[in-house]
Amino acid sequence: MATLVERDRAHLWHPFTQMKTAPDPLPIVRADGVYLFTEDGRRLLDGISSWWVNVHGHSNPRINRALRLQAETLEHVIFAGCTHPPAVELAERLCALLPERLNRVFYSDNGSTAVEVALKMAYQYWTNRGDDRRRTFIAFENAYHGDTVGAMSVSHDSLFTASYAPLLFQVERVSAPADYRASLDPANDGAAREPLAALEALLEERGNEIAGIIVEPMLQAVGGMLVWKAEFLRKLRALCDRHDLLLIADEVLTGFGRTGRMFACEHGPVIPDIACFSKGLTAGYLPLSVTVAAEDVYAAFWSDDRRKTFFHGHSFTANPLGCAVALEGLNIFAEEGVLERIRRLEAQVRGALLQYVGRPYVQDVRQIGGVGILELAESESGYLADVGPRLARAFLDRGLLLRPLGNVLYFMPPYAITDDETAWALGQIDEVLEETFARRA
Ligand code: PLP
Repeated sequence: MATLVERDRAHLWHPFTQMKTAPDPLPIVRADGVYLFTEDGRRLLDGISSWWVNVHGHSNPRINRALRLQAETLEHVIFAGCTHPPAVELAERLCALLPERLNRVFYSDNGSTAVEVALKMAYQYWTNRGDDRRRTFIAFENAYHGDTVGAMSVSHDSLFTASYAPLLFQVERVSAPADYRASLDPANDGAAREPLAALEALLEERGNEIAGIIVEPMLQAVGGMLVWKAEFLRKLRALCDRHDLLLIADEVLTGFGRTGRMFACEHGPVIPDIACFSKGLTAGYLPLSVTVAAEDVYAAFWSDDRRKTFFHGHSFTANPLGCAVALEGLNIFAEEGVLERIRRLEAQVRGALLQYVGRPYVQDVRQIGGVGILELAESESGYLADVGPRLARAFLDRGLLLRPLGNVLYFMPPYAITDDETAWALGQIDEVLEETFARRA
């Protein structure tokens, strides 16, 4: 009988792994809590929350039950011209958690589509109001907003987007000044003194051509797990107010507790005009996303003029299974003290991280919420730095699934992880780093 990997190799095309030298995919047949189990009997601790989505642990009994009940009641129905209880209830619950101004929920099915929706909404907001000058967006260096064409256009020019460059629309890309970088290493912690000079100059000159500014609040993840000070967000909000622009917060990763607050914009606190959520929205169970807009954005579409309609919809918009699972995920947040749990995780991770400040092989040490980040001082940096796969293999040999972004190693476990499991994972990280680097020194 062929193994799962042999059968996989015959027909599958995986994301990111067409390199002939790439290792075999891990054959995962079951998951429970923070653990993944392989076909050949290995147990792996999921230190990356399965691409940053899982929050309450795998195969969570409460979520399993909610999913089962919903499947037996209503699995799916078209959402153009129909509605259903899980979609309505989830929108009510989300709006109750978000600032009052954000009260129009548009469903789609993944982080990239949530961003596409936000960009199209922001663009059409202006044209519906009769302003045809607002033809582009401001985006940041190191940003990542997804793999669809619009989302790639507002992402950093990178290895991920290079092949499609001629297909992408033009945006104004600005760098976020290093002054706003947050680090546990005092040598790298920005002083947040400088004004955002380049951005301000751009806005003075061309502010009335810009539809909106899109930002990953507090944490640019794919771009290298860069943590930003809350002051940066506040400045952006102030600039958007001054120049009458829409602020779009891409909280696809940061939403639902990942940065230690329910939503990263709470760190400001700032209220965006449009916000995108996915990943933790369904506790990592099912593909669902929301783009939540302020009432005045929605008002620009509310009309009897058909040309003002937001013509965007997906077959699985507001899928009831996804909505039901998301609702149970929110119940768990409310009833099981999850934010408190994240605070404990944060303290434990911080304790371990501080010991790396000043180690010769560590360039920077960062943290936000339960996410711990070590930027390694390699001669080769960036996503392709081969230290990443080498370390990943060493961790895997010890039963820990991590997936460094090149020379940036990070630990982002589900919040359901226990103190003991956290201590074990942090211990493995330390041993592998010491074996790899202290020996080399
Ligand atoms: N936006 C951010 C900030 C992300 O981190 C990601 C994915 O990692 C996306 C958008 C795209 O989400 P998805 O992979 O669900 O399309």
